[in-house]
Amino acid sequence: MSVSLSKVCGGITASTTLRLNALVVELRAQGQDIIGLAAGEPDFDTPANIVAAANRAMEEGQTHYTAVSGIPSLRQAICDHLLKEKGLPYEKSNIIVGTGAKQVLYEALRAIIDPGDEVILPAPCWLSYAEMTCMCGGVPVIVDSRVEDGFEPDIADIAAKVTEKTKAILINSPNNPTGAVWSEKTLRQIAELAEEKDFWIISDEIYEKMVYDGSRHISIATMSDDARKRTILISGFSKAYAMTGWRLGYAAGDKSVIAAMDAYQSHATGNTNSIAQFAGVEALKGPQESVEKMVEAFGQRRELMLSCIRQIPGITCIEPKGAFYVLLDIEDCIGRVYEGKVITDDGVFAELLLQYAQVSVVPGGPFFAPGYVRLSYAVSEERILEAMRRIAQFVGDVMKQKSA
Ligand code: PMP
Ligand code: GLU
Repeated sequence: MSVSLSKVCGGITASTTLRLNALVVELRAQGQDIIGLAAGEPDFDTPANIVAAANRAMEEGQTHYTAVSGIPSLRQAICDHLLKEKGLPYEKSNIIVGTGAKQVLYEALRAIIDPGDEVILPAPCWLSYAEMTCMCGGVPVIVDSRVEDGFEPDIADIAAKVTEKTKAILINSPNNPTGAVWSEKTLRQIAELAEEKDFWIISDEIYEKMVYDGSRHISIATMSDDARKRTILISGFSKAYAMTGWRLGYAAGDKSVIAAMDAYQSHATGNTNSIAQFAGVEALKGPQESVEKMVEAFGQRRELMLSCIRQIPGITCIEPKGAFYVLLDIEDCIGRVYEGKVITDDGVFAELLLQYAQVSVVPGGPFFAPGYVRLSYAVSEERILEAMRRIAQFVGDVMKQKSA
């Protein structure tokens, strides 16, 4: 057969995070005691009141197609949430619900990117952003941030990358993988630059609830009326309500862009799962104690992981203020030999750690963070302690070896 794949699909690198999640499941099925710090999802189950609402929806026959952009009650609940939590005034026609934040994020790019358009990606950033941009024919323009700035981007670095072709900037605070929560100053500077140079802002706020140590999540859409109009705000239910498997996310933005996303979605997938949508209404309108408890637990686990890391010579990290990740600097381990293999980069480090210490982490490379690996602390305290014991042993052995 000589038929080929499309250039777009032929060029995609499948998601490393999802590949690693699948690998952990496979190794566990083979009987290995793997501690998974790679998965970017809460280990908690979906709160019972949300599950009950889904059951009710099924029993009441809410099992049909819905409006492409979501049932009105869910879109209204999202408007209410955005007004209450962020002071942002939206109407239902400003909202589209889709199959996870992932789908609406992709659709947002689809709605605004023509081939050759540039999308500025402050980095490190979630590994799907660059791939999604390429899938739309766009060009990702990476702007590195510095560890000494707490991985908050510098506006001068961003401004230096703006060209005639800049169509959007895609930002994410609280950030995956750095855990940084960007300041109002940085957000304001980005909003002003976007207004001056006239490009879109896509703001991925999926970790909005996960902030610690008195940090505050601020939406860039609140910076000004102009910022609100040019921002496509992305969020969802996966993290805050432990609903990763339900596939429920949403975008809020100008009616024109939401209508374009709606048209695209109407052909690509149609509405997201009707039952998940009814569950989503309960998530937003029902009691919020379970969210608070989860965030509190993540806060304690964060402290625990950080205190373990501080005791391990050879690895360091900055204190994450949000999300549930630690970006671990493993630069000192690179170039050393372990079990006869040279640790040439973070990918090899992660491979060896999985093979010899049975701890899975995500290499920083795909997040534009070479020399780092990402650890999730959305696992129990007991598993964190055991994982850190294994990592300490592994890194201790690595540090005893000379460089190759
Ligand atoms: N944005 C970021 C930064 C993420 O880490 C993820 C992964 N959950 C998503 C978006 C997509 O989330 P969802 O499960 O809602 O598709
Ligand atoms: N976003 C999560 C992560 O970064 C979940 C996996 C994915 O969708 O990439 O691990």
